[in-house]
Amino acid sequence: MYSLDYSRFDHIGDSDDSSQASTVEPPAEEEAPSAEPAGAGVARAIADALNPRLPDAIVLCVHAFLPCARCGASMADGGCRVPHPPHLLVDTGSVFGSGESRKSHSCRACGQDYTMVSRLDAAGNELGAPRCESGTPLCFSGAHTLGPLAADDERRVWRDLADVVADADVQDAIDALDADVRLVKVRSAQWYDDSITPTFARPLARLEVLQLIDVAFRRVALTPETTPALRELEMQNVPEDCEICVRCPELRKVAIRYYPGDEGWVQAMLDHAPKLRTFDSYKLQRARQLQFAGPELEVIDLHRTDCLGALSVWAPRLRHLGLQAAYSLEVLEFPETHPVYSRELPASHVPTPFGVNTMNSCLGEAAKNALRANPRARRAAAAHRGMPTEAMFASATDDTWEDDAGDY
Ligand SMILES: [Zn+2]
Ligand SMILES: [Zn+2]
Repeated sequence: MYSLDYSRFDHIGDSDDSSQASTVEPPAEEEAPSAEPAGAGVARAIADALNPRLPDAIVLCVHAFLPCARCGASMADGGCRVPHPPHLLVDTGSVFGSGESRKSHSCRACGQDYTMVSRLDAAGNELGAPRCESGTPLCFSGAHTLGPLAADDERRVWRDLADVVADADVQDAIDALDADVRLVKVRSAQWYDDSITPTFARPLARLEVLQLIDVAFRRVALTPETTPALRELEMQNVPEDCEICVRCPELRKVAIRYYPGDEGWVQAMLDHAPKLRTFDSYKLQRARQLQFAGPELEVIDLHRTDCLGALSVWAPRLRHLGLQAAYSLEVLEFPETHPVYSRELPASHVPTPFGVNTMNSCLGEAAKNALRANPRARRAAAAHRGMPTEAMFASATDDTWEDDAGDY
């Protein structure tokens, strides 16, 4: 139930007509006032701006018609219930069988895991609304608030998010995106359908976050002309024959999963992303050589880059280098300087130590020696769980590069 924080109105008694303060009492049937600031101060400020002598009842009315900062509904409109934001969901697996589908997700906003179950018809199509088998489909359930919400509280209805499901009309939906949209997720409907081949190349000047998930794109063009503000890009199962160009100078975070093509566009993207902080990939399978150079780079996580033979890293702020299940890495270089970025570093900068994850890898001797020779490199404390088959191609000794150096 929604409840007002009446304690915030105590100061009203200081006005010329102090008797008004006693006229505002919480109804007996109301729940106890929420510890969450209900924004009464904002309502008071608005009412004061209109007329400093407005009765408290008017203040309460103003309050009730203001929108909740979390869900956008009126403050007087029931409880605050927010579904998990689509762009913050992590797919943690699906199971199909016995006429049902079970789809599990983890939410980055609230940290909860949940599983939805749908009945399937004979053709495997979902019937009716899914039911929640475990966890909850709600990211937040509680009292409304006028906020402002803490910057890291992402449990909210995102007003400038477009969640596009890739059905037969997906190209029309992409073309109709609001020009001011900030977050876009394009995702498969029930199945990955390689007959649906949209293009994502339209100008979206304010777009900051783009997720292209399990859709057989024909072309993706993200350039300073189309998406100059793009900060985060996530791609999953974009097909090898997709024509991709990513040149976005504001990029901070990139995640690529299941990309079977070569590294051409990936390297070009890296070369045009001087502010990149995090690069995270899983099964970037045919990338043979990659060069990372960035003054802001903190995380480079290459998991199952099966064919990666040569890697160069200049990253004075690096904290983690993931090489899990790198089966072919022979050449690993850590250049001491960069022709452009080195000059931009403060003279006092001390390069950070970084953890290296080499679980299930198969490193060449030269690559292992490069790790041993780098005084910043430590064995990482954590590794990905990985598929059971991942270790089949691993060297039994590759995870011992630091032991061999005598540091343990
Ligand atoms: Zn709300
Ligand atoms: Zn959530």
